[in-house]
Amino acid sequence: MPSIRDTLAKARTRIDATDARVLLQHVLGASHAWLLAHDDETPGEAQAARYAELVERRARGEPVAYLTGQREFYGHAFEITPAVLIPRPETELLVELALARLPENKPCSVLDLGTGSGILAITLALQRPQASVTAVDASTEALAVAQRNADRLLQATAPSPPMEKGLGESGGVRFLHSDWFSMLGAEQFSLIVSNPPYVASGDPHLGQGDLRFEPQQALASGPDGLDDIRLIVRNARAHLRPDGWLLFEHGYDQAASCRALLAEHGYTGIFSTRDLAGIERASGGKVQGAPEIAHSW
Ligand code: GLN
Repeated sequence: MPSIRDTLAKARTRIDATDARVLLQHVLGASHAWLLAHDDETPGEAQAARYAELVERRARGEPVAYLTGQREFYGHAFEITPAVLIPRPETELLVELALARLPENKPCSVLDLGTGSGILAITLALQRPQASVTAVDASTEALAVAQRNADRLLQATAPSPPMEKGLGESGGVRFLHSDWFSMLGAEQFSLIVSNPPYVASGDPHLGQGDLRFEPQQALASGPDGLDDIRLIVRNARAHLRPDGWLLFEHGYDQAASCRALLAEHGYTGIFSTRDLAGIERASGGKVQGAPEIAHSW
């Protein structure tokens, strides 16, 4: 049987070196450091066979996150399945924008539209234990993944006494099966975040790379990619408390259109922010509040 070093060298002839290492770590349940220190050891037969299969699937294009079943976001490992979009590092920008607007030691309410694996809802609940977070998705398969992530990540850090599963009262997240706002009635929130689908339905990227394996429902949104963003901007107003913010991610060339949409629908404080690659990646605006209740989150 080949050693770890030879196994990796062989895999690297088929797939990217980092992918080869990450997949081997996954199969062996080992850290990067362990792998480096033990590269003359030999993986077991079953492990070697499992690894060969994953390398083959990767070589055929399957995303690493779907092969390992996880991806890190904002410092936490989230379970990922093909029912949900793979978390992108640039989406951490939305977390930063939301945290800058959420009070640290006061109750507030947050809505995450199209939560997918739950990364935004769960990260915000972890960072703001006093927030009641509601997360909706139109996909029941996605909600099942998000619920498992919440159970694992929020239970682990729950204050004592431990919170009840699924309740939004002590830093928990409430999950709802809802097509955007459809099941939310007249509920209002201090802040709404969303990483909606925003790729134009005819965009050739949908047929390339990782995107081929991701749920199209989470990626594509009409001819210009703005169908869902238009719906969200139009409807979010009625679900925002006075001075409540709407913050959302969008495509690299959609910032100006998004600001125009926000202006058209009467939002104020409209802005766009660049991601680490220098691309305008998220925009937002707020609903003007009457002065006397401006800070009653
Ligand atoms: N950022 C993703 C991409 O273009 C799209 C994600 C989304 O539509 N929310 O690869």
